[in-house]
Amino acid sequence: MTSGAGGGNVINAFKAKILAVDDEQRLLEAYSLLLSDAGYKVLTALGGAPAIALLKQHAFDVMLLDWSMPELGGHQVMEFVQNSGIDITIVVISGHTSVDGVAQALRLGAYDYIRKPFAPEEVTTTVANAVKHRRLEKENKAFQNRINESDKLHRYIVNSSPDIVYMLDQKGNFTFLNDRVEKLLGYSKQELMGRHYTYIVEAEDLHLAKFVFNERRADDRSAMNVELRLKCKEGAGKACYLNSTSLYIELTAMGVYSRPDQYGNQRFIGTYGTARDITERKEAEEVINFQAYHDLLTRLPNRALFKDRLGLAISHAKRNQQMLAVIFLDLDRFKVVNDTLGHAMGDRLLQIAGQRLQRCLREEDTLSRFGGDEFTLLLDNVSGSADVVVVVEKIHKELQQPFVFGGNEVFVGASIGVALYPDAGATLETLIKNADTAMYHVKGQGKNGYQFYSEEMEAGVHSRLTMERDLRKALENKQFEVYFQPQVSANSGEVVGMEALVRWNHPDRGIIFPDEFIPLAEETGLIIDIGSWVLDAACAELGTWRMQGYTNIKLGVNFSPYQVDHPGLVPTVLAILKKYNLPGESLEVEITESAIMKNMEVVIKKLRELSYYGIKIAIDDFGTGYSSLSYLQKFPINTLKIDRCFINEIKQGDSNRCIVNAIIYMGKGLGLNLIAEGVETKSQLDYLKDLGCAEIQGFIYGKAQPPHLLLSQLQSSRYAKMIAQ
Ligand code: C2E
Ligand code: CA
Ligand code: CA
Repeated sequence: MTSGAGGGNVINAFKAKILAVDDEQRLLEAYSLLLSDAGYKVLTALGGAPAIALLKQHAFDVMLLDWSMPELGGHQVMEFVQNSGIDITIVVISGHTSVDGVAQALRLGAYDYIRKPFAPEEVTTTVANAVKHRRLEKENKAFQNRINESDKLHRYIVNSSPDIVYMLDQKGNFTFLNDRVEKLLGYSKQELMGRHYTYIVEAEDLHLAKFVFNERRADDRSAMNVELRLKCKEGAGKACYLNSTSLYIELTAMGVYSRPDQYGNQRFIGTYGTARDITERKEAEEVINFQAYHDLLTRLPNRALFKDRLGLAISHAKRNQQMLAVIFLDLDRFKVVNDTLGHAMGDRLLQIAGQRLQRCLREEDTLSRFGGDEFTLLLDNVSGSADVVVVVEKIHKELQQPFVFGGNEVFVGASIGVALYPDAGATLETLIKNADTAMYHVKGQGKNGYQFYSEEMEAGVHSRLTMERDLRKALENKQFEVYFQPQVSANSGEVVGMEALVRWNHPDRGIIFPDEFIPLAEETGLIIDIGSWVLDAACAELGTWRMQGYTNIKLGVNFSPYQVDHPGLVPTVLAILKKYNLPGESLEVEITESAIMKNMEVVIKKLRELSYYGIKIAIDDFGTGYSSLSYLQKFPINTLKIDRCFINEIKQGDSNRCIVNAIIYMGKGLGLNLIAEGVETKSQLDYLKDLGCAEIQGFIYGKAQPPHLLLSQLQSSRYAKMIAQ
């Protein structure tokens, strides 16, 4: 028999298991035959007790259950099913004429019923319906489960996001916030729901917030990464333990629109976006920017800030026809103190000298540490040289006083040069240069005193002219040499690179260091030819090392901003690499931040070109210029070379260590290679290793040396031994 199982195919595909229960063996056989024919798997039970036994052992989809059976009736079987939580669809077969039995069965959860006597089709159709119903119910449940799961998953993702996720209505009131907001700002979600966003934006940043939170664009142009501050709940949130009241975040926003209606129109319903906590990055930037304009030892403005202020003061003085004074001051016996009492004492001396100088000045004057033991002062709005003399004599007297270190009195003294605007120069550079010249005059005449600049002092220029003349001939007379300083892997102790450092072997004066002639070479334009020569000579050397098997060594070469600016940069570099058959990857070009800042658009193009050929780019003296993450991200930079001055600070207690930490933290965040320069002591090395700085350069592994000395060093694998110690 096959009739009656309407929609048979679908149902047969779902091979349902049926349990037929009756106290008449005859009927059981009929069910079995009928239903097996329709494609079901059928088991039978003769009475309530065997039915329960089977239900305990097997899982069924549908049970055909005779309602009235002796001993255990259908009613008890259904109770058993309910109590044991068995999932089964029940069709009751009732012999009763009364509706009571059927009604009771349906109340107990039966799906349908059949009345005896019945036609065979009635059985198959009812079972088919029950099976179909069951299948749909199951699918429904599974679907519902899936929805619940995915809803849960989305909630989970949104709530465990490290960022705040928010949504605003058209008016700017919060309609959604994830759990993160509580941790970061200290407000509960309930406190903020329905509130306007201005409630949590720092007053000074409201103008920024307005642009972002009113974002209606939903495409690529929508607001990205706007930095602003959010207010925290008093005494709560992350800011609380940072001792602040607001939190720096980076905000994104995009417009949210309703589904298109039948005319394809969409309605703006609000703004959606995220807010990311960027406190750590901000702090790192602040620390780095502070030291870009300050000397870390004395906490005084540095050379860059001094020049900034002087530039402003000059334009101001020009407008108002006022005078100002630039004072250049050099401590006389600093070097002696430093060499005999040690660097720690030298540093202390500089700090105290800074404090004494500060005491001689007015609020509006600028005192800066210009470098080494040199200080510069800017006296704004002076009425004449008499004014300046008063200050300078006071300073002179202050520095004449002995400095006391551990019971020792140290006498230092100072040479002071003064240049007055406008008489002794109209520009920043001339004023500084002339104050410097005046100071040198004092030194030349036995030190310790002061002088005002006058044109007669220009006799000293003579020596500069001589130097320029000599420098012009140096290339042609083959007086330059390239020395190399190893760069060592902090982990393995292997030499991984060499930095080329130029030396001028002067016929009369012997070896002259680059700090003394590079500035002049730059001023005169000779740097272009000298630079090409250095690159050529260094590459030639790298070629010989590679031939001896040192193929993993990278070569660092310094490029002055003038070289970077020069149109011949890229072709020159490529031609020299080709000449010695070197891969681009073996060369790392070292440039300073100032080279980048000079002419950003052009430089970026050149660096990308070099980078295209595999050539690496390192930022030299990193941390001493404009350190901004945003520019770093724009350039194809591989390496940051942490400036020597920060490494120097490592020995002096903790306050300044955070700068090295900040730089390393930043560099790592950007995926850059880090080289620490000027590492001299084991404690510096250990500290840097701990922070995870990858490469080390400095006297601890050796000074710059001429190549013939270096090769033997490489061969004797001195570096490998150092690590083994
Ligand atoms: P730089 O690129 O920062 O080079 C590192 C300088 O630090 C080198 O001085 C090196 O000898 C010195 N140094 C290395 N390790 C230590 C250490 O542990 N302690 C101390 N106190 N100093 C260390 P150098 O050779 O006198 O070079 C000075 C600067 O001259 C260089 O600074 C670089 O800016 C410039 N320079 C050198 N060679 C060239 C060149 O071929 N072309 C250009 N354009 N500039 C060059
Ligand atoms: Ca360098
Ligand atoms: Ca450097």
